[in-house]
Amino acid sequence: MDRIELICWNYLWSGSEDFLKTSPVAWNKVCTDKKTGGLGRYTISVGYSWLQGDQAKVPCHPVIWNRLNLPKHSFIGWLAIQGRLMTKDRLLRFGVIQDSTCDMCMDQTEDHSHMLYQCRFSSQCWTLLADWLGVVLPGTRILEWCCSWRCRSLMKKKIVIAAILAMIYQLWLARNLCRVECQLPLPAYVFKFVQSIVQSKGQNWKWTSKYQRMSWSPWM
Ligand SMILES: [Zn+2]
Repeated sequence: MDRIELICWNYLWSGSEDFLKTSPVAWNKVCTDKKTGGLGRYTISVGYSWLQGDQAKVPCHPVIWNRLNLPKHSFIGWLAIQGRLMTKDRLLRFGVIQDSTCDMCMDQTEDHSHMLYQCRFSSQCWTLLADWLGVVLPGTRILEWCCSWRCRSLMKKKIVIAAILAMIYQLWLARNLCRVECQLPLPAYVFKFVQSIVQSKGQNWKWTSKYQRMSWSPWM
């Protein structure tokens, strides 16, 4: 076995190139065609998928990893949908802070639902975005709504999701700015910024030409 094959062998079973004395399946079997029980031509991605096994797909997967999202928007959305952003209610629970009052309204406890949807500031941002997109958004749990939203146009759905993920990211940024520097941008400013992100992304993806054939456009 040459050096590359040895590295592949070790990486498949241990995740490193360190030498292993034994492995669960013979290398020849690993390289056997899939129809005959092997992995087929071995690549790292094939080996990784195989080791992951059959895991249930989560319904929010196409929303969070929508290909029109910016990666940083996907990441914050991924944390948000799991309730893993470091909101003040969580920080209070961990004993990091003593007061969980929302810095943006100074009125309610800051948890995910309040910070992202129910706070006056966030609510105003969502209203502006929904008007522009021409969709009716629920008052809370907008990310979850995306997962079950039925839309006849796949392109429209992808754009709306990209805009929603961009808004969640910007709300999180605005919240952090308010918490650290005691400054809160105007909702109109946050909306304009989200709008510019989505539009510039659209130009990169040449959405505008596709819109010539569509009845819906957030550019109208
Ligand atoms: Zn608030």
